[in-house]
Amino acid sequence: MELTISHPGKRLRRPMTIRIIPPSPGSAQPSEEPNGAIVSIPTAATLAPQAYEQLLHSCTAAMPNEACGVLAGTIQRIDGGAPVVNVTHVYSILNAAAEDGVNNSFAFEPASWIQTLYHMQNNRQSLVGYYHSHPASPPLPSASDMIGIREAAARDTSYWIISLANSARQPVVQPYWIHNDPNGQLCCSPLMLTEIRI
Ligand SMILES: [Zn+2]
Repeated sequence: MELTISHPGKRLRRPMTIRIIPPSPGSAQPSEEPNGAIVSIPTAATLAPQAYEQLLHSCTAAMPNEACGVLAGTIQRIDGGAPVVNVTHVYSILNAAAEDGVNNSFAFEPASWIQTLYHMQNNRQSLVGYYHSHPASPPLPSASDMIGIREAAARDTSYWIISLANSARQPVVQPYWIHNDPNGQLCCSPLMLTEIRI
């Protein structure tokens, strides 16, 4: 997958380390900023009901290809606790890989991606995450997903994978937080989906 259009065709060849860190309930994963300040990262996420419906519609409509897009909303800190990612709007973006006949990856189609960014900007919405679907595999970041994250230099944002792989085709929505750990290592930490607000 590719999150960005800035490095078309570029591929990283060095081996990757994929670190999945389970969230610790009630406490934030501290990470250190370059200036030495300890900051807490989000450990939880919420989805507005209409956003949940849009997300599922996008993923099922794209079958058997992967759906992809971006998420708008807020990152909110409540009472000094760990921030929470609140998704209110879902914008599906044309999957250029699917257009090319590739059904196990995604790449934002440039015109669709730019149009979406303009739309969000005009509506004063903040981009808080990226999503794509796994039509036939679990909601875990694949090796190519990690390459895409590195290429896009995506950090401090949420990254959602929606799996439709189980036999009942019941969607499994798994958000992650993309960040660097204090050693500068790329981390993809699962977020707890705590609420679909009604
Ligand atoms: Zn993927």
